[in-house]
Amino acid sequence: MRRTRPERFVQMGLSITHLGSGSKGNSALIASERAKILIDQGFSGRQLELRLKEINIHPSEIDAIIISHHHGDHSSGAAIAHKRWGVPLFANFQTAAALGYDLIHQVTIFENLERMEFSDLSVLPIPVPHDKAHNVGFIISHHGSTERAAIFSDLGSWTDEIIAHIAGCSHISIEANYDEKLLWNGPYSPRLKERISGRGGHLSNKQTGLFLREVVSKSTKSIVLTHLSEENNRPYLAESTVLFHIGELFEGDIAISSQSGPRFSHYIGAKEEKAKVIEIL
Ligand SMILES: [Zn+2]
Ligand SMILES: [Zn+2]
Repeated sequence: MRRTRPERFVQMGLSITHLGSGSKGNSALIASERAKILIDQGFSGRQLELRLKEINIHPSEIDAIIISHHHGDHSSGAAIAHKRWGVPLFANFQTAAALGYDLIHQVTIFENLERMEFSDLSVLPIPVPHDKAHNVGFIISHHGSTERAAIFSDLGSWTDEIIAHIAGCSHISIEANYDEKLLWNGPYSPRLKERISGRGGHLSNKQTGLFLREVVSKSTKSIVLTHLSEENNRPYLAESTVLFHIGELFEGDIAISSQSGPRFSHYIGAKEEKAKVIEIL
């Protein structure tokens, strides 16, 4: 007897797991069934190993480390991971030069706005204004899905180009660095306060809220606020300020990545496909 029955196949998309974020180190793991990449590696080799171990991954399984910019909290552990576990490094020319990398043997240079492919993951670097650092944020997609994830940090301000790329993303990780009152009433020197809040510095909670207001839609499933200043911010202030600006637009999950290890993952692009299977009895 032959009978047909519908069967569901779940095609996995990609996961986003922050291994930690803040001025003492940043790294985010993007994983699919076939590829694992790190956006930034600002932790020691030992810390990277420990943080990945919490999610049952060994550093040698990482296919690439893509560095956003040369500041130590995003790059200081990249060369160690390359040397110790042979993980390939990727950076734009200015960042690779600022880090003093051997441009032939140590790093692969990417061009801003040119797509990179890592097996079933696709990564597009977008220029970000930040302290003359040639910073980039990343739009990441999975070949099997139209859903996209955005990982952006250290933005002094934003551009129309950034808005155009992040709008419609299912997942957005973005910094919410400081609370304006805490910064201006806090212990930093006037010069440092100016730098942090200036066009080359970081986004305040309020700026992040105003930015997200431009890009969030019903298709936004998850937002992770990153790079919170330990001195000038509090998680409840970041979350409540951002939600004040996007509350009526956003129905998804909002979370905060702290400086400590991985605490959660977000998943996008999983696709359920119904297929008919012929069963022979
Ligand atoms: Zn930076
Ligand atoms: Zn940073």
